[in-house]
Amino acid sequence: MTSSRPDLLKRLADEHARRTRAQLLRRVRTVETGDGAAIVVDGRRLTHFASNDYLGLARHPALVEALTRAARSDGVGAGAAHLLGGHRDEHTRLEEALARWTGRERALLFSTGYMANLGAIAALVGAGDPGARAAQVLCVQDKLNHASLIDGARLAGCTLKRYVHANVDSAARQLDTCPGDAALLATDGVFSMDGDVAPLAPLAALCRAQRALLMVDDAHGLGVLGPDGAGSVAEAELSQDDVPVLMGTLGKALGVFGAFVAGSAALIDGLVQTARSFVYTTAMPPALAAATCTAIDIARFEGWRRDRLARLIAHFRHGAHARGIALMESRTPIQPVPVGDSAAALAASARLEAAGFYVPAIRPPTVPPGQARLRVTLSALHSEEDVERLLDALAIALEPSPSRGGLGGDGVGPTRP
Ligand SMILES: *Cc1c(COP(=O)(O)O)cnc(C)c1O
Repeated sequence: MTSSRPDLLKRLADEHARRTRAQLLRRVRTVETGDGAAIVVDGRRLTHFASNDYLGLARHPALVEALTRAARSDGVGAGAAHLLGGHRDEHTRLEEALARWTGRERALLFSTGYMANLGAIAALVGAGDPGARAAQVLCVQDKLNHASLIDGARLAGCTLKRYVHANVDSAARQLDTCPGDAALLATDGVFSMDGDVAPLAPLAALCRAQRALLMVDDAHGLGVLGPDGAGSVAEAELSQDDVPVLMGTLGKALGVFGAFVAGSAALIDGLVQTARSFVYTTAMPPALAAATCTAIDIARFEGWRRDRLARLIAHFRHGAHARGIALMESRTPIQPVPVGDSAAALAASARLEAAGFYVPAIRPPTVPPGQARLRVTLSALHSEEDVERLLDALAIALEPSPSRGGLGGDGVGPTRP
């Protein structure tokens, strides 16, 4: 009976209405111009505390120069997938630079981090006979992993088990549930909405003992942590044997776009054959690869950018403490301010915007219910004064507003643990 068939567009509209009622609606804002420290939105200049441009490279003149020079000589689009004539010299140079930086044998480019995670996980858990064997593969993941890791395991059809955030014992228990199955353990290196660093060394020891394959998504660690900014895995002094599958993105600290997976030659050779999001997609524009090579040189060798970030992070945390603003346990440029209630987080974000700061409210389902927050991120482009002014504005924005009596008190004020 066609008349009883549910209407898909109506279901979508119902979900939109539900999110509106629950203060969970998301909105695309058009930014007129900006960098890691300031943006212009609706004609107003806002100090920008939401970008992932941690090192301030996205508008660096050397990157712009590398991009335009490559585009002038090579054009814009790659014109094809990597395996069908789209792989250029710039891609090879970038893959070699990424492998050198991360201390891996080889690296393989993907067009985005989302696609790298989908492709690598599906290739690993489904190798050989997609579908039929994936069911006998266990994928164990941190509860707070990025959506692309979770989606990768879901799409691959393996058994997905999630462990308590950053809890190695919980991860061990999940591995023990299927002791006979092949297993992949995947974790963010730096958690994107919390800013804390995964317990990588104990996880690597667990994986070695349990013969599970460890995969680390270092989207927010690369460029920021470790010697020469080589990432959270390098900071933990873990080799390619300890972390056989290392994924990183090029659109965050490197200020460009794209992603890669790095590891042994055998891993990369396998992914080239079977990672569908590598095989069946257009190669990234070669000019972006050229710009990223320049970004790596700056990220590696201009250590003052990381030193500056470290000073700003310390300044922010110290200043928040002095003002009674509770923060989460983070030593990275991701410094979330917990609020709890979604409506209260939205209200605080709006007050900050009125005061000249762009700090978006992060709400469910991006974070667990009841854990809405203001996600402050710092960039080497910020000044100490920017941070000081933000702290003053935060202290005011987080005060329970008398006009919102029902929402005042618990879960709204700055003193929530
Ligand atoms: C941003 C991010 C991704 C996705 O990378 P894109 O290149 O933006 O698609 C994957 N994992 C983590 C942890 C991220 O923060």
